[in-house]
Order: sequence, then structure tokens, then C-alpha cells
Amino acid sequence: MAEDPLARYAVTPACSHAEFLAAAKLYARAVADRHDLSVDVNALDWDVSTRAKRRAGAVHHREGTPERITLAWRQFENDGWDATAATVRHELAHVHLLREAGDASHGPAFRRLAAELDTHVHCERFAAPAFWVVCTDCGARLARYRRSTLVDAPEEYRCGDCGGRFRVEEV
Ligand SMILES: [Zn+2]
Ligand SMILES: [Zn+2]
Repeated sequence: MAEDPLARYAVTPACSHAEFLAAAKLYARAVADRHDLSVDVNALDWDVSTRAKRRAGAVHHREGTPERITLAWRQFENDGWDATAATVRHELAHVHLLREAGDASHGPAFRRLAAELDTHVHCERFAAPAFWVVCTDCGARLARYRRSTLVDAPEEYRCGDCGGRFRVEEV
């Protein structure tokens, strides 16, 4: 658990918009497969918004059919891939519930799925992580949006990069 296998899709802000979207789509496909979501990643249009100042992501739909996912470049620049990845999971939850139930809300079904996907319930604002798990040796920082066994018992894990110990900062 110290090493998230999905972290291999991470990209850094030096990449192009095309690389960013390619990574987001690969990551989305992996999440959809792992959680058995009703999401056809290739059937959706994926966009970068360079204008969005507060909104981290959005699903655009027509009469309940999801058509396009927009991700905010600014969140990626400011907060990095982990924050974007959490937004991708949030938007995938919307796509799944739209397709399964025509539900675009943040209601009870959304909250259950958001918990399963370890993402935030509100998409109106850029979400700051609730915790940073920091390696005391190499300084690697892992964003966590909810409590988890890693957050509660960091001493039971070691850094995937260097084998160092973790401490937890509550945001
Ligand atoms: Zn939302
Ligand atoms: Zn480390």
C-alpha cells in the first residue's frame, strides 16, 4: 500500500497538454478497470482548461449521456499529479453514475463511490488534500484525501522510493 501501482501514470507539469491528457486517460482506464466502472474512456472527449481558476474538473453531458471531461491545468500546475488524479477519480464517479442511473448529483450514491475511489465529494473547488504523508528521508510527499491505514499508522509503511519512514501532516 505504500506504493500506489497507479502512480506509474504520473506526469509532471513540464509535460505538454497532450501528454497530460494521455496520462489522464491511461490512468482513468486503469481506475475504471480496477473498480469495474461503467466508463468507456475512449468514447469521451478529454479537454484541458487553462482558464478554470476554481473548478478542478467537470463532466459535460447531454441529456444524461456523458460526453466530455475537462481537467484544469492550474490545479495540475499548483498541486501536481496527485491532485489531478483525485479529480479524475471524482469525474469518473460522475460518469459511472450518469450511465448507470442518470445521476449527476453528489448524493448518497456519489458519496459511497467517492469513498471507494478515495476522492473528494465536492468538485466546485480545487481540493486540497486532507493529509500529506511525508518521507522523513527523501522528502517524497504523498497527498491523501481521506483517512487511511497509511495515514493512521505511517510507522507500518516505508517510502517506495528510498525505504525511509513516513510522518503525517494534517492539512
Ligand atoms: Zn462533482
Ligand atoms: Zn523516501
